[in-house]
Amino acid sequence: MKQVVVVKLVPDAASRAVLVETLRVCNAEANRIAAIAFAHRDTETGRIEREYALRGRVYAEAKATGIGSQLAQHVVKKVCDAYRTVYAQARSGLLRGRRPAKALAKPVAFRAGAAQPFDDRCLSWDLEARTVSIRAAEGRLRGIGFACSKQDLKVLRAHRQGELDLFERDGELYLAATVDIPEAEAMPDPVDFIGVDRGVVNLATTSDEVNFQGKGLERYRRRMARARAELQAKQTKAAKRRLKQRARRESRHAAHTNHKIAKAIVSAAERTGRGIALEDLEGIRERVRLTRSQRGRISNWPFYQLAQHIAYKAKRAGVPVVVVDARHTSQMCPLCHHAERANRRSRDRFECRGCGLAGPADVIAAVNVRARGRMAWAVSQGSRVAA
Ligand SMILES: [Zn+2]
Repeated sequence: MKQVVVVKLVPDAASRAVLVETLRVCNAEANRIAAIAFAHRDTETGRIEREYALRGRVYAEAKATGIGSQLAQHVVKKVCDAYRTVYAQARSGLLRGRRPAKALAKPVAFRAGAAQPFDDRCLSWDLEARTVSIRAAEGRLRGIGFACSKQDLKVLRAHRQGELDLFERDGELYLAATVDIPEAEAMPDPVDFIGVDRGVVNLATTSDEVNFQGKGLERYRRRMARARAELQAKQTKAAKRRLKQRARRESRHAAHTNHKIAKAIVSAAERTGRGIALEDLEGIRERVRLTRSQRGRISNWPFYQLAQHIAYKAKRAGVPVVVVDARHTSQMCPLCHHAERANRRSRDRFECRGCGLAGPADVIAAVNVRARGRMAWAVSQGSRVAA
């Protein structure tokens, strides 16, 4: 499975200037080519020419900017890919609030620091020395240091592919390298499932009664929100930039937390030979009753990211994941199956009105998810045997 490892470059001032300039030239070229492609588009379908036709039209001039033939080709490809993405999004209605016609009404545009693809011919790695050598606008730059974790270095060493992007963000330069990690062989038959209940206050609770709380995160978020309000009041350019940085830091922090939770759940499943059962997202949206402050939290909290993290880590570890219907998981008694809203005495407390079974509401929900996971697995295996 393909993944991306991002490393931060630590060039000296002179190399940094050359790299920033290289990105600027590449993206200026991309904008020029995007405009040409747009001018020559099929007026009926809105589609641009095929890549080789466009390359014939723009290549000589692109090469003449000094970025070299490989980079020039990557720039043309990048423009074509960008149009393809816009068409695909327009088709699937992903550009919400923007009609497809409007999305296709002007050329695609690239920021000066936007990601630029490189390959092994124009960028080479020395993983032992932790340096890269890059074919830049003014020739080759050698021995540019990069920073990355031991784990990432190990992954790069074992699974790096040729493709990578150079990009600039908040004044720093980064390389995003594609790695292709082999999937573990799937667990033949899980002995059981771990049910996972996701929530707003407890980010995740498992049927093993392990709780991943959002408390520390809440404090962090409140602190960030206060700082944000102060910055928003200022309205200066510098304040706006800091605001953006803060939002990025916040989402990185959230991603890191989700990553840790997913890792803990997947390794528990792997260790014990179990699969993982998750509720479907639609169900969560419908089920979780939110206070007004929580609604804000959900919309800007990458709450849904957790499922994705679990899914890819599980895939890597060969742990099966089943997604189950989430309806009534928080109101149904796992013992007598009596379901009624009143079973849930409060946000935290479950007490069955039928048989009296009582416990923490999140754990009860996770146990219900586990039961549905077992059933879904049995059904899917049965149908596979029948087929
Ligand atoms: Zn009951």
